[in-house]
Amino acid sequence: MTSRTAATNLPIAIVGGGFSGTLLAINLMRYGVRVVLIERSAGQLAKGVAFGTRKPEHLLNVRAANMSAFPDDAGHFLRWMDFSAADEANRFVPRLTYGMYLREQLVAALAKAGPDARIVDGEACSIDFAESAATVRLADGDTIESRAVVLALGNFPPAPHAVLDALPERLYRPDPWHPAASGDLSGLERVLVVGSGLTAADVVLSLESAGFGGEVTVLSRRGLKPLSHAESGPVVTPVPDPDVRGARLVREVRRRAAEIGWRAAVDALRPHTQNIWRRHSPATQASFLRHLRPYWDIHRHRLAPSVARRLEEMEAQGRLRYVAGKLCGAATADGLAAITYRPRGEDGRVTLEFDRVYNCAGPDGDLARVDAPLLAHLLEQGRIRGDIHGLGIDVDHLGRVRSADGLVQDRLLAAGPVTKGEAWEIVAVPDIRRQVWGLARFLADEHWVGGEGL
Ligand SMILES: Cc1cc2nc3c(=O)[nH]c(=O)nc-3n(C[C@H](O)[C@H](O)[C@H](O)COP(=O)(O)OP(=O)(O)OC[C@H]3O[C@@H](n4cnc5c(N)ncnc54)[C@H](O)[C@@H]3O)c2cc1C
Repeated sequence: MTSRTAATNLPIAIVGGGFSGTLLAINLMRYGVRVVLIERSAGQLAKGVAFGTRKPEHLLNVRAANMSAFPDDAGHFLRWMDFSAADEANRFVPRLTYGMYLREQLVAALAKAGPDARIVDGEACSIDFAESAATVRLADGDTIESRAVVLALGNFPPAPHAVLDALPERLYRPDPWHPAASGDLSGLERVLVVGSGLTAADVVLSLESAGFGGEVTVLSRRGLKPLSHAESGPVVTPVPDPDVRGARLVREVRRRAAEIGWRAAVDALRPHTQNIWRRHSPATQASFLRHLRPYWDIHRHRLAPSVARRLEEMEAQGRLRYVAGKLCGAATADGLAAITYRPRGEDGRVTLEFDRVYNCAGPDGDLARVDAPLLAHLLEQGRIRGDIHGLGIDVDHLGRVRSADGLVQDRLLAAGPVTKGEAWEIVAVPDIRRQVWGLARFLADEHWVGGEGL
């Protein structure tokens, strides 16, 4: 056997067995490609952070009708749920249930693939590259030889917070996704949540469900809160990819929103958002991230209506309030967290005391700051670099990772939210399922339609 044939017989190694890694593995198995799926947290296998929650109050923020794992079989999840009525398709089911769906798909694919697919429990800590192979080394010293490695590492935990890190562990929850983050409610009366996105909503709901009866303050720069999905719909009429850019595009979306409603106007852009992002210069992308992103996020990443209602009830009872301001200081005073912020548009400062503070400021994108041996190793070797906006790993349009000197690598790829810098909208299932479906075709050499171009 020549070394080239030997190399193509090697499996594809996927680091990270959350939604992105698992779906990529399943799609590769469909094409008969050998796969090794490496996941460091057995409880998260196939589910990842989002769908590995144990809390039934954490609902999907996408309707069941749009949660099929497969872009070529839109009704797959509905059939799995045994949902056939329109009101069922409109439901927002628990993420826990969705995790079970994913695990079942993985088990079925593994059973079919037999010895060609393997799950490995462990943390990948380094990857060494030779001419025709890449060797992944695990924390326990085991190695896996592969023909290419795909990094499906998911969202990184929030960045260390320059202000909040001054607080002692007892008062501060730096990682809201940590399983113990909402535990031990004894003596808890006043909670501060920094950041107001969907993770903040998760934290508030978890506290409520665990019996918390106190008050929550949610602090963010603009005081925005995620908007709600409608009970049903909207009915989205497909529109062509808009041929306007920048401020003209924003005006056009506003005009459409006034005509057909903001939800329909935003949703109609979904098939085109990645192209729109790619068409804009890095400077315009940066301007979007600075000025428009918070507004895009609340319109685009919506709450399930039942979740929105629960939060509104808490607001009406005076137990939940959203505050706009800039965090300025954190100290310990009489055993409490004394938090100082500057209200938006004002010069003065306000100090309030809390029993606990959560950091829900969003995932970190700075590769050098994330506490992960694999990233540290790849950075040191010059195998990865951050994308220009500091959102994740720099990749090309096929997901091939760019090395420190900007060269595209065929043996190192990435999928899922870590590729946000290239695609922007690559966080939710409908986008990732399409990305990994395409990536699997590419890696399996199935992206050529028979005879195409010959
Ligand atoms: C709280 C939350 C709720 C969400 N809800 C929804 C929703 O309702 N609908 C929707 O469409 N999208 C939702 N999303 C978006 C979500 O990001 C994606 O849908 C998707 O789950 C991301 O999957 P992933 O596999 O890329 O990342 P993750 O789920 O984070 O999985 C990455 C996995 O990689 C593993 N890993 C990392 N490094 C290593 C290593 N070195 N070695 C081995 N294993 C490693 C981790 O343990 C982890 O299991 C939600 C996201 C979050 C965070």
